[in-house]
Amino acid sequence: MTGVRGLIKRFGANTVLDGIDLDIADGERVAIIGPSGTGKSTLLRSINFLDQPDAGTITVGDLSVDAARASRADILALRRRTAFVFQNYALFANKTARQNITEALITVQKRLPAEAEARADAVLRETGLSDKADAYPAALSGGQQQRVGIGRAMALDADLMLFDEPTSALDPEWVGEVLDLMRRVAEQRQTMLIVTHEMQFAREIADRIVFMEGGRIVEQGPPAQIFDAPEDSRTRDFLRRVT
Ligand code: ATP
Ligand code: MG
Repeated sequence: MTGVRGLIKRFGANTVLDGIDLDIADGERVAIIGPSGTGKSTLLRSINFLDQPDAGTITVGDLSVDAARASRADILALRRRTAFVFQNYALFANKTARQNITEALITVQKRLPAEAEARADAVLRETGLSDKADAYPAALSGGQQQRVGIGRAMALDADLMLFDEPTSALDPEWVGEVLDLMRRVAEQRQTMLIVTHEMQFAREIADRIVFMEGGRIVEQGPPAQIFDAPEDSRTRDFLRRVT
């Protein structure tokens, strides 16, 4: 079981997460939708302490951490159980595709270089990037860079994969290949929490859609319920605007 209980995050006087409760079952694919500025990224970033939450409990796999009293060791342990895919890829510009994937395997997971390279090569094959293993990010298309970003996350074998709008920085021509790769990850029943503006994609791969507004979960349910029969007027208004 993975998720958050009573999660609160403030930036100064601005309460960005106002008591979020979200349970995610093992293997469940959950998509978060909602207006801009509503706390979607902050929720993902709070789960692995890229943003420091003010209160609440974060559980990933067998580890539960009280946000208010998390130690450095707790935070590292949470980060070891999660993998993050960023909107802007966040690749190391001075490392090749393979080195981008091996980096965390060696430094965080303490794997031997030969083992990390074997894992990276397997992931590069899975992502269709074997011929780009020695290329630097600048020599890759946006779609290829994000496939490296996803491959890097896949290589970690994390309990939870977090995706923050992984296609929204891409030129339209590269969106399809990245969504295809995410579909393949989803088919492996990897536990996924995905913030996305791609409503059709969310409907197709998510087990559950969570609609957030104003730092709260307003409504959640199976895709057919949220997209075809939303109960809350705020969900309806949002969907009318974006679809
Ligand atoms: P979008 O759809 O535009 O990505 P979002 O739902 O991901 O929006 P967040 O990025 O989580 O929204 O931001 C939620 C609120 O928190 C916004 O009001 C934002 O200005 C504020 N915020 C986010 N990060 C910080 C920060 N580091 N310092 C101060 N305020 C922040
Ligand atoms: Mg965001």
